[in-house]
Amino acid sequence: MSADAHDHSELSPIQLRVRALETILTEKGYVDPAVLDLIVERYQTKIGPHIGARGVARAWLDPEFKAVLLADATRAITALGVVSQVGDHLIAVENTPGHHNMVVCTLCSCYPWDVLGLPPVWYKSAAYRSRAVSDPRGVLADFGVILPEATQIRVWDSTAETRFLVVPPRPAGTEGWPEERLMRLITRDCMIGTGLPLRPEEISP
Ligand code: FE
Repeated sequence: MSADAHDHSELSPIQLRVRALETILTEKGYVDPAVLDLIVERYQTKIGPHIGARGVARAWLDPEFKAVLLADATRAITALGVVSQVGDHLIAVENTPGHHNMVVCTLCSCYPWDVLGLPPVWYKSAAYRSRAVSDPRGVLADFGVILPEATQIRVWDSTAETRFLVVPPRPAGTEGWPEERLMRLITRDCMIGTGLPLRPEEISP
């Protein structure tokens, strides 16, 4: 730990609030800091977008798995064995040339942590939460995603009970690729619907 880590002026107001809350809850015996550390470590190192990416890559390769994923994503992802359990009701929605799905939580920041890890900062911003609904095409353009006018955009509102995983289309030029290599094309943002999968030429061989 560096010396200036003890300088509280370096912390943002939110970080100070979190620290104060954690201190009080720990002193009163409501939380165990060691357990908090374990949970944070798990979300930083073990749970992340690679889990969702495996589900998407498997769906690209295996039509039967894809059918299960689109019918019952919680069951399909749990069956991959990459997570012990998917706590929330997970729904997979497929992007096609005619239909593009993107996900927002208009109320707060509900996000499929089990398959995508920690949410990006912009996902929780008021600007994204309001504009994703009122101007999804404009938001996509800000992310560098320009869709044909004919493509319909559907915005899904995440809730505490229901989370969404976007299944993007498989990029051309990936015929014969194994799952691990396909996974490298599948970004977090393309599983939120604010991005597209990388093209083969965008990753190292
Ligand atoms: Fe929420």
